[in-house]
Order: sequence, then structure tokens, then C-alpha cells
Amino acid sequence: MIGMPARMLDGVAVAAQIRLELTTRIAAFVEAQRRSPRLGIVLVGEDPSSEIYVRNKLKSAGESGLRADLIRLPATARLDEVLEVVATLNAAPDCDGILVQSPLPPALGAAAEQAVFDAVDPRKDVDGFHPENVGRLVQKRPSLVACTPLGVIELLDRSGIAIDGARAVVVGRSDIVGKPIALLLLHRNATVTICHSRTRDLPAVCASADILVAAIGRPAFVTPEFVKPGATVIDIGINRVSDAAVVHRIFADGSRRLADFERRGSIVVGDVHPDVAGVAGAMTPVPGGVGPLTIAMLLANTLKAAEARCSGLR
Ligand code: NDP
Repeated sequence: MIGMPARMLDGVAVAAQIRLELTTRIAAFVEAQRRSPRLGIVLVGEDPSSEIYVRNKLKSAGESGLRADLIRLPATARLDEVLEVVATLNAAPDCDGILVQSPLPPALGAAAEQAVFDAVDPRKDVDGFHPENVGRLVQKRPSLVACTPLGVIELLDRSGIAIDGARAVVVGRSDIVGKPIALLLLHRNATVTICHSRTRDLPAVCASADILVAAIGRPAFVTPEFVKPGATVIDIGINRVSDAAVVHRIFADGSRRLADFERRGSIVVGDVHPDVAGVAGAMTPVPGGVGPLTIAMLLANTLKAAEARCSGLR
């Protein structure tokens, strides 16, 4: 494999294909129901990354024929005010999906996020964070599943990467990324290992993987020694880096990413070091890998929730 650069899995193209397929199904829904599937997005405060994510979600939803409404609350909002907005969306008959953008302002307290996720009607829980949907995922029953994990499976399937029987290692055990990805891979008959900050010999464990998923939140943490030659590496990380020394350690002089950094003063870096391309068989770039899939699966979940509610399922 040495010298053969990894195939880059094109998340932008796969997401565009999924959105195209959804457009047809959304048109059929509109025809039958005389209304568009509707997504309510709740944004509390003005976190700059959240602003960008929400703007992208609204744009993609509109382009696909979904109706998406943004409900804004100030950073000073109290928890009961956030819960009241969720209750209004729960009760709205023409609202099919509810998404409360994470993270909530820290002032709301550590328990606020789970309290808000718990309050969303599970049938409208397009983020798949409600405990009922998480439980259904564990039991492999039909449910709304978290968007990024769903996107990872779509990307693997549509890129022709076999999951059945593969040895998969997921680094990261968060409720919203690591755990659901591990469960989805398990349900597809991968042999799954979940790693975290207390895992011993992490590079060696990772190097046993046919499919390595990095959901850590540390820029360029996964280096070539973590990767078995020819393995598929999925990079979930979205890390904004503004420290020039760190960026120079990751990207080679003269590279396009370094030029981007010089121009903008900061850059988004994944959890996987670019040198991994020299060892992996296939990998996802950041940006342009898993990120676009997350939004496509949000649209898919909204349509799924709308179809299920209108046909009286669940
Ligand atoms: P969390 O911070 O909730 O979880 C990070 C996980 O990584 C934890 O399980 C932690 O272990 C583990 N970890 C941290 N440091 C190490 C280490 N040194 N060695 C081994 N494991 C370690 O993050 P999220 O799961 O929410 O997100 C992960 C990344 O994915 C972030 O960069 C985030 O921005 C990105 N993301 C991207 C999305 C997309 O659309 N592409 C969507 C959502 C997130 P422990 O449990 O022991 O602390």
C-alpha cells in the first residue's frame, strides 16, 4: 500500500445524491398531504459555530422542499422558556421534526441539554437523542437515529465499503456520536470495539480495525501508527484551530490547507492527521466528509417523521 494515497470518500457528492432522492419523496408527501414536511429548529444564544450549522440546515431544508422554521431565544433564556418552545412545537399538528441546536449556553447548567432532549416528542425527535429512541436503537427496533451516525453508515454503504464481518473500532463514546455509531455498526454485523480516554494501548487497538471511526474532538489526533494499511478511516471531528503552531505541525508547507489558514486566521481540522492518507485504503476528508451527510440525514429523518406521523405509525 505504501505510496498509494487513500481513496477520499466524497461526502459532498453522497449527500447531494441522498438529497436528490429525498426531493422526490418530499414532493410525493406534499402532493398527498397538501403541505410540506416541517422542521422546527430552536437556537438558544449566538454560538458562532451553531449559527453556521443552523444556517446550513435551513438552507438545505429549503432547497429540498422542507419547511424549516428557526425559533431563536437569547443566551439569557431560562430553561423553562426553552422547554415552553419545545412544548409548543410538540403540540403543533403540522410540525414533524424538532431540533434543539447543541450546545445550549453553559449558563443553563449541565443538566439542561438532557432535560431539553427528554422533552421533545419522540416521534418528532429528528436528532434521535430522546431516551426512547436511543432505547429503540439499542434493541434494533425502528426509530429516529442520530444524524451523524446514520450518515456514517450511508457513506460506507454508498462507497462500497463492506461492514458485515469487518472489525470496527470507534474512538469516542459520547451519547450523540460514538455510542450510536458503534450500535449501528454492530447491527450491521461488524465486530465492534469502543475506545475512550482510558483505553490502554490505543494506537494498537485502532491498528486492528478494518473500519476506524474517530469521534474524539482533538485535531489530527489519529496518526498513521493508528491505522492498519488499507483500512477505511472515518473522521467525525470538527475542530476549529487558530493556533498557527498547531496548524503548521499538521499541514505541510505549501499545502492548500495551510494557505487557507493564512488567509482566514483559523481552519477546521478533523480528528485524523492528513498523513493517514499514506496508509489508509479509504478515508473521509474534513471538511467535505461526514459533515454534509449529517445535514442530509437530518432532512431524511424529518421526512421519515412526517411520513410516520401521517400514516399513524408509532
Ligand atoms: P465528546 O467530547 O462528547 O466525546 C469525545 C470522546 O472522545 C469521549 O468519549 C472521550 O473519552 C474521547 N476522547 C477524548 N480524548 C481522548 C483521548 N486522548 N484518547 C481516546 N479517547 C479520547 O465529543 P462528541 O462525541 O460530541 O464529538 C466528537 C467530535 O465530533 C467533535 O470534534 C465534534 O465537533 C464532532 N462532531 C461532528 C459532527 C459532524 O456532523 N461531523 C456531529 C457531532 C460532532 P471519555 O469518554 O473517556 O472522556
